[in-house]
Amino acid sequence: MNSATLDLISDLISRDSVTPRDGGCQEVLIKRLEAIGFDCERMPFGEVTNLWATRQGKAGGPVLAFAGHTDVVPPGPLEQWRFPPFQPTQADGLLYGRGAADMKTSVAAFTVAAEEFVNAHPDFSGTLALLITSDEEGPSVNGTCKVVEALRARGTAIDYCIVGEPTSVGELGDMIKNGRRGTLSGRLSVRGVQGHVAYPHLARNPIHEALPALAELVAMRFDEGNAYYLPTTLQISNTHAGTGAGNVIPGLLVVDFNLRFSTESTVDQLKQRIGALFDRHAIDYTIEWTLGGMPFLTAPGALSEALSRAIFKETGVKTELSTSGGTSDGRFIATLCRQVIEFGPPNATIHKIDEHVALRFIEPLKNIYRDTIEELLPDATA
Ligand SMILES: [Zn+2]
Repeated sequence: MNSATLDLISDLISRDSVTPRDGGCQEVLIKRLEAIGFDCERMPFGEVTNLWATRQGKAGGPVLAFAGHTDVVPPGPLEQWRFPPFQPTQADGLLYGRGAADMKTSVAAFTVAAEEFVNAHPDFSGTLALLITSDEEGPSVNGTCKVVEALRARGTAIDYCIVGEPTSVGELGDMIKNGRRGTLSGRLSVRGVQGHVAYPHLARNPIHEALPALAELVAMRFDEGNAYYLPTTLQISNTHAGTGAGNVIPGLLVVDFNLRFSTESTVDQLKQRIGALFDRHAIDYTIEWTLGGMPFLTAPGALSEALSRAIFKETGVKTELSTSGGTSDGRFIATLCRQVIEFGPPNATIHKIDEHVALRFIEPLKNIYRDTIEELLPDATA
């Protein structure tokens, strides 16, 4: 297989860009984008590399942005990889390498789509933009979040945004995300009194005191979700208590939990209900809350329709809109842009050993992005 998109994906994969490093990926993109008239603004924050690139067309049309990240997660044990993770390798119809699915294929595909579009439609109306960061897989503090704040401060609007996260399941285009649930974490600390296990009357065991409340917590039903969202769920992720010795009643229990919440529950409601539960059990506790992201939702509209049509045209697949899965940088962009949709290749191997993308998805993905640009940024009529 031979294609400009494949060549660019391979170039990007060969650059070790474990988060928050960019490995020179964005400079490769800048060189290509400047060649087709993009204005490229480097926006570094801390050790994070960010890029905001815009290509103005004729006045009057909307601003369509593609968003993505050049950083990748660490490869893990190298000896377990079939091929070296930063050496893109084709085998059995697949392209292997760290970032092949998450998300260097999408970044290359929308860059080449932009090239094809600008060359074929020099008189398009509106603005085509790219927002690229090297801090999506890390703490996500100095990446998209900061760029969005800078854009907001200078009054830049975005009408439509496609985030290239890998959202497909089995076939290219079978799922796009028109929103994400919110994420809220709690760290529960329950205080007791440390003592000898043989003298429980002289101590207070925080594990024993918390267990009935925790049993109620994990059985709680917060809401039923709605047409776009699954019901809110809660999972305990870490618990810690004890000194390691078998004869000591611990003085403190710490429990971490996380909620993925729908728009049917507010942050305040969730905090209040969980607080009320522990109050009722009369235990000595505190909860430290961290809001990781608010839920966002893009109602079906021009963007989802253009993308769905392009997917059907290139693959014959009727796409499904979903808000399932983890959080992404879409949550930041949604504060600036009313229509945010995520779409990219299948996500079955992301973050895994032997991450790969099927070669047969590469050209259709690029074509879907290009078709979508063509529909949303039409040629200006004289
Ligand atoms: Zn990603």
